[in-house]
Amino acid sequence: MTEIKKAQLHHKIVIIGGGTAGISVAARLRKAKEKDIAVIEPSEFAYYQPFWTLVGGGIVGVDKSIRKESDVMPQGVHWIKDSATIIDPDNQIITTSNEISIRYDFLIVCPGIQLDWGQVVGAEQALKTTEVSSNYSVELAPKTWDLVKTAKGGTAVFTIPSTPIKCAGAPQKIAYLAADYWRKRGILDNFHIVMVLPSPKLFGVPEFSKVLEQVVDRYNIDVRFQHEVVEIDSASKKLVMVDNTNQDHNKVSLDYDLMHFTPPQSAPDWIKKSPLSTGPFGYVDVDKYSLQHNKWPNIFALGDVGSMPTSKTGAAIRKQAPIVVSNLLSIMSNKTPSKQYNGYSSCPLTTARNKMLLAEFDYDMKPYPTIPVINTQKERYDMWLLKRYGLPFMYWHLMLKGLA
Ligand SMILES: Cc1cc2nc3c(=O)[nH]c(=O)nc-3n(C[C@H](O)[C@H](O)[C@H](O)COP(=O)(O)OP(=O)(O)OC[C@H]3O[C@@H](n4cnc5c(N)ncnc54)[C@H](O)[C@@H]3O)c2cc1C
Repeated sequence: MTEIKKAQLHHKIVIIGGGTAGISVAARLRKAKEKDIAVIEPSEFAYYQPFWTLVGGGIVGVDKSIRKESDVMPQGVHWIKDSATIIDPDNQIITTSNEISIRYDFLIVCPGIQLDWGQVVGAEQALKTTEVSSNYSVELAPKTWDLVKTAKGGTAVFTIPSTPIKCAGAPQKIAYLAADYWRKRGILDNFHIVMVLPSPKLFGVPEFSKVLEQVVDRYNIDVRFQHEVVEIDSASKKLVMVDNTNQDHNKVSLDYDLMHFTPPQSAPDWIKKSPLSTGPFGYVDVDKYSLQHNKWPNIFALGDVGSMPTSKTGAAIRKQAPIVVSNLLSIMSNKTPSKQYNGYSSCPLTTARNKMLLAEFDYDMKPYPTIPVINTQKERYDMWLLKRYGLPFMYWHLMLKGLA
């Protein structure tokens, strides 16, 4: 048998993942006149995932969330169209699924988060039925709208897992968009809307939780705090959840007519197996302020795969990307990295089909408003316009170009 010789490449800076984080960082590094940057990214397409909430809510078509990866890849960057499978940080080598090995001087890790659909018994099967969907997949988000649009009544369940997830508010947003649609059609009373929530509050920041309590009351949503769905039996349209409100952790079952399912999430399995990983969800072990790896100083991570204890959003990445770039440039010129990420994240909570609450906060879980003059701690129509038009424009035209 002939041995296939592994191709050898070398780049000064290698970025794993050409999604929100990878493209933002690559664009900023190009603006800083860095010449030898490679992005490892297997996908033909780039996505604006925040739109999937509006796709499921019937407000925009799924095509509006998709661009060609080649259209967002910054000029002058080497695109390696492949998946990273192994990182050897001691020898500074990445191996890809096509058996290419790539040496790097500096590495930025941002391959996003893994959707663990199989963690809930029966979920994968249930997602193939007409009653269950999820905005967490580009293929399924349009199906959510089909469900919402055609439903006439019954038990509508919206689930949230206990693992950290990207955009923790997204499972609630689709519940509010659906409820408001049924309210507008005059059929809201035909529904028993159940939201299954792992936490004891609607949101980690009390100021925003208070507003959401009013929203939940408005739509008469039955919130099962400290519960988690562990099994779905799609043949009998029944789910089983664990009640974590007391030590007994009793199992409770519930019949459903339609369901929006949010999968548990964790770092990609190959990252979990790598020496870079830490903690129960296997995220890349970085200093939460400098975003530099805790063991290998020539490695940074940002975005959903990072171990920073903040909400995993594109908004957080908008603040992380300039920190990573500045700190990386510092260490490349033998200086100490000095820029610090404060944990900023934000969640544009669509509470109706024309209202949004912009929840902005930092590591202290205190409101951190960045929009001057107006009070963004309440539901607003102008913030809805920001979600529908302003943020997607900013994403494609400013953030992915390293300008915001
Ligand atoms: C339904 C929904 C609603 C959301 N709403 C909001 C919102 O309103 N506001 C907000 O700010 N955020 C929101 N988000 C979250 C936001 O989209 C993510 O936090 C953000 O996209 C994460 O960026 P990332 O670069 O870490 O990962 P991604 O953007 O997911 O990119 C990861 C990239 O890595 C690539 N990749 C994967 N594996 C490998 C590998 N082995 N090798 C190389 N490349 C690999 C992937 O193909 C992908 O292109 C939402 C997300 C969802 C799903």
